Amino acid sequence: TPPLLEVNDLKKHFPIRGGFFGNTTGYVYAVDGVSFHINKGETLSLVGESGCGKSTVGKALLRLFAPTSGQVVLDGRRIDDLSQGQLRPIRRRVGVVFQDPFSSLNPRMRVKDLLAEPIRNYGLAKNGAELDERLAKLMDLVRLPRDAVSRWPHEFSGGQRQRICIARALAGEPDLIICDEAVSALDVSVKAQIVNLLQDLQRQLGLAMLFISHDLAIVEHMTHRVAVMYLGKIVEVAPRRSLFGAPKHPYTEALLSAVPVPEPGAARKRIVLTGDVPSPINPPTGCRFHTRCPYAFDRCKTDVPELQQTQPGQWAACHLHDLPEARNPLSRSLPA
Ligand code: SF4
Ligand code: MG
Repeated sequence: TPPLLEVNDLKKHFPIRGGFFGNTTGYVYAVDGVSFHINKGETLSLVGESGCGKSTVGKALLRLFAPTSGQVVLDGRRIDDLSQGQLRPIRRRVGVVFQDPFSSLNPRMRVKDLLAEPIRNYGLAKNGAELDERLAKLMDLVRLPRDAVSRWPHEFSGGQRQRICIARALAGEPDLIICDEAVSALDVSVKAQIVNLLQDLQRQLGLAMLFISHDLAIVEHMTHRVAVMYLGKIVEVAPRRSLFGAPKHPYTEALLSAVPVPEPGAARKRIVLTGDVPSPINPPTGCRFHTRCPYAFDRCKTDVPELQQTQPGQWAACHLHDLPEARNPLSRSLPA
């Protein structure tokens, strides 16, 4: 079956305005040729350090701004070139949950009005009784008491507010939800509850999920596949077990080395990345990671590595995989 979402060579370059006339003096290459897919009912996590472009990918999918180029195909239909009017009926198929449950709910609206807005916009309730029924169902789904709908956002804790945001994301009966650092601002114990809720909802409703996060420990616990971004590009995509067990990109390996290993006695190679993430205004030539990569060699400074399949379902953009196996430090396979 074809994937629910397909993203092909997506780019988002923000112009930098400067000079006396406010003319364009350069670009921020925030997203620079990103391709991936998400299957129905699947979670794909998009990970990387802050500023790597992962949130920009999420926003471009939602058309919170138009992509510079590339294609977005939802359920077989291109949506990147639709007008805002044409997008309206499609919007309900993609829900979104942002990081901050405090600022993303209008404090002057009761929960019922916050949720009624999308339900009415999408034409999912013909009358008051149908609306009440939908509101009750949404409260049940996110495990809040049904009378929560008549209360105000400030009456809830952070975790409860994030449940309300999830209810709002589900209001249009989406096929896909985008969670952009959706648990990052929550306390540790609440984090786990919300992640479990998202997983349960996904199974119950058959939802696909794009889980944007910098927190690999959480991702390891809940994802099906992972895409790793560095400076506007995906450097590795793999199923969860392969990515965490035998990463095929030096950047993934470095990110993982900072994540605690669940099993006692097991260890990951410790790699400390030196230097800051370079600016996306002037990304390094060749492999964008070459200024920080512990394995960089001559070719890395000049040739841009393309994603290549190293194992079934595992793709990495790194010249090491063109070397003979004995000279490739990332050639080891998954421990049995
Ligand atoms: Fe490191 Fe070179 Fe691979 Fe880039 S292509 S990740 S610099 S070894
Ligand atoms: Mg972000």
